Amino acid sequence: MRLSEAIKNLHGKYKNDLTGDVSKSFPALSQVDPDAFAISIATVEGDVINVGQADQSFSIQSISKPFSYGLALEQHGHLFVEKKVGMEPTGEDFDSIIKLDDQNRPFNPMVNSGAIVTSGLIDAKNYATKKEELLQYFSAFAGQPLGIDDEVYQSEANNAHKNFAISYLLRHFKVMTSDFREDLDLYFNQCSVSVNTDSLAMMGATLANKGINPLTQKRCISHENLRHVLSIIFTCGMYNYSGEWAFDVGLPAKSGISGAILLIVPGLAGIAIYSPRLDKRGNSVRGIKVCEELSEQFKFHIFDYQTPKEISKIL
Ligand code: GLU
Repeated sequence: MRLSEAIKNLHGKYKNDLTGDVSKSFPALSQVDPDAFAISIATVEGDVINVGQADQSFSIQSISKPFSYGLALEQHGHLFVEKKVGMEPTGEDFDSIIKLDDQNRPFNPMVNSGAIVTSGLIDAKNYATKKEELLQYFSAFAGQPLGIDDEVYQSEANNAHKNFAISYLLRHFKVMTSDFREDLDLYFNQCSVSVNTDSLAMMGATLANKGINPLTQKRCISHENLRHVLSIIFTCGMYNYSGEWAFDVGLPAKSGISGAILLIVPGLAGIAIYSPRLDKRGNSVRGIKVCEELSEQFKFHIFDYQTPKEISKIL
């Protein structure tokens, strides 16, 4: 069976699975259609296959984290970034009140503390240009201009008491500097970038295609930094389910509390699933099921060896 056929079948199989609930983190997330369900595949050749409401927009939330980490790596190099944020999974909730490692760093850039510090590393002339830089960077991965959903941004900025608490603690421990409010605001903006499964899958296809966008042929990230980003996604991308995910699915993937999962099949495709009903860890219930079945069916687990001939039969 081909991948395009498989996602159609999986969409049909799970369409009526209404397990889980939408995020209640802030009003804009709790008001989305809980039953929306879309799957998109963007291949490294630039072909896109969509099933369900693939044009329905949603905020990228935590799936922004690997991309802002990529930008920080591109701007400063990993030796500098490594001094500020580590690369160890925490096994804890993504928004747990901070625990720093023995070098006074957040554990990794996928938990909120590490992501807020990473946003603070983004360099530009002033705050407005930082926002612009970040948006352009995300857009280059998508191969199309992306924008910020202002309603989502306002909703998060006015209700993110825990992220404020985390930031004050980061300031207290001198991990962040006195102008941390701007860094936190940039973080809220990056989480509010509006995507749909079609554009998100293409962002993934760029990661799957050695960092080159399949549509524009623009290199978005160096080979070395791409490896760093994919390693972090692989070990820390699925919240405190990342170990089990690596064991079962065996592919880098990043989850967001808006209900999206971005799965990367290196050398083959980016796959985006949107289904806002979440499990208790914050992962999309249907998203997990779809990824598990795809990995199993096509032997995508990175430790399942596939010959080039076998791969050519998948698309
Ligand atoms: N903006 C959300 C937060 O900071 C993102 C969380 C997520 O998607 O994991 O809490």
